[in-house]
Amino acid sequence: MPEQPSEKSIARMRRFVEKYCEKSGTTTHPDKEITEAVVLGLAKHQDDLGRPLCPCRFYPDKQEEIKHRTWICACDDMQIYKYCHCLLFTNKEGMPITEYLPDDHEGRQLYGVVADPTPNKGRPRRDKAAEREQERIERPS
Ligand code: SF4
Repeated sequence: MPEQPSEKSIARMRRFVEKYCEKSGTTTHPDKEITEAVVLGLAKHQDDLGRPLCPCRFYPDKQEEIKHRTWICACDDMQIYKYCHCLLFTNKEGMPITEYLPDDHEGRQLYGVVADPTPNKGRPRRDKAAEREQERIERPS
């Protein structure tokens, strides 16, 4: 059985999720088990790597990945597009916001266009979309 994350990191991630929902105008998924699984995954990475690396992706080398900020929660896709592919930050129906994603982004292909119910909140790095798309080509991750 995989080792459980520490209570300290779990509590830290719970606080972070609550605050970030408020700040970004999103909510956690109505299915609490989804939220719990992501929180535990983030807390485990916090313990093992010292950073809350996104738990819903595969990384060839996690130590190498944390040198980039791309997938440190809240990741670039969240901060630029308000899109959370882990379904940690969603609208009230549990759908990820996709309206700001490029048309060819996997989120658009999976969920279609999901409008942002709180466009006045979140996306603090919205001006970085061009860099993010360049990175997606050069460093697929
Ligand atoms: S997709 Fe981004 S915002 Fe969502 S849990 Fe992963 S790192 Fe956090």
